Amino acid sequence: MKRALNFNAGPAALPEAVLQKAQGEWLNIEDTGMSVMELSHRSNTFDAIHSKSIALLKEIMDIPDNYEVLFLQGGASLQFTMVPMNLLQSDRKAYYVLTGSWSEKALKEAKKIGNTEIAASAKESNYTYIPAVEEIAYNPADAAYLHITTNNTIYGTQWKGYPQLENAPLIADMSSDILSKKIDVSKFGLIYAGAQKNLGPSGVTVVIIRKDLINSSLTNLPTMLQYETHAKSNSLYNTPPTLAIYLLSLVLEWVQDQGGVEKLEEMNTAKAKLIYDAIDNSEGFYKGHAVPDSRSHMNVTFTLPDDHATKQFLEQAKAAGFVGLNGHRSIGGCRASIYNAVPLSHCAELAEFMKKFKETYSASVVKS
Ligand SMILES: *Cc1c(COP(=O)(O)O)cnc(C)c1O
Repeated sequence: MKRALNFNAGPAALPEAVLQKAQGEWLNIEDTGMSVMELSHRSNTFDAIHSKSIALLKEIMDIPDNYEVLFLQGGASLQFTMVPMNLLQSDRKAYYVLTGSWSEKALKEAKKIGNTEIAASAKESNYTYIPAVEEIAYNPADAAYLHITTNNTIYGTQWKGYPQLENAPLIADMSSDILSKKIDVSKFGLIYAGAQKNLGPSGVTVVIIRKDLINSSLTNLPTMLQYETHAKSNSLYNTPPTLAIYLLSLVLEWVQDQGGVEKLEEMNTAKAKLIYDAIDNSEGFYKGHAVPDSRSHMNVTFTLPDDHATKQFLEQAKAAGFVGLNGHRSIGGCRASIYNAVPLSHCAELAEFMKKFKETYSASVVKS
């Protein structure tokens, strides 16, 4: 069996070693005679997996002791609602930096909860860049928080540095670049990420929250939508997504085996460079959507000269075994998602394919 050259945007490639380990334990985990899915979430065996996942994430991301790690459900999309429900006081304002569709959706949900304001936006450029930190306008006197989306899957842009805020927590949707590079968690009040890009399968959402932001006065909120409920019960208030948490623990072990986030960052930089070089050395045949200093190391977005070329490219790529290269319908063109689990060799194969396609396509157009 040949594994696909998987460039899916999410759910996305998982490390092969993780899938093999899970396969080996599928029918019998830790000599229980059961699959992990058949264990009680209150059993010692599952508890060890759950605690290990939390401990590994804390270690890998160097999460300070004044933060809580929560495993929730509902995807990053439910965090668009839970963040304002829990953190946007009625006399305050939530500030949002718009860098793409996910930030727009986050803002849309916050508007239903309270006062909001756009602190900066790249919308008028069709989200080709990340606004400079100096462009971000917010009032520290009334800010409940400032929300950013650290990587924009659809447009292929990524924050390179983060704003330093006075008197307001920075909240980040890191769904598509968590664990892709070293970050200083202490700069953030809350980080959230759906698992299905860099952490594991869909079904679990990681929330890293500074403990002072866990508000115990929100007794009127639905129980399941309060961070406090999950923080108080170690994310075991109700049945957690046990299989997803188990796979997350295997992905985290794999991250450690790779040498941690510093090593992954080096790899991701090298992977992205291969494909961006293929774009930049194509004499304008391929055009990147993002401006160079906002380019994402997770999602490379590019267009070809016209629809015919794009269609041919996608057809031939598919025939050559590449999966998931269609751009999102809102910007068209192509996109290669190169999350942590996508090997460097697959990126090299894609870069080579792009180079060859450009040559043969240009030659065929000249002839016809
Ligand atoms: C994929 C993605 C989402 C959506 O996550 P769900 O878990 O499907 O809700 C949100 N934000 C960002 C930045 C993403 O990349």
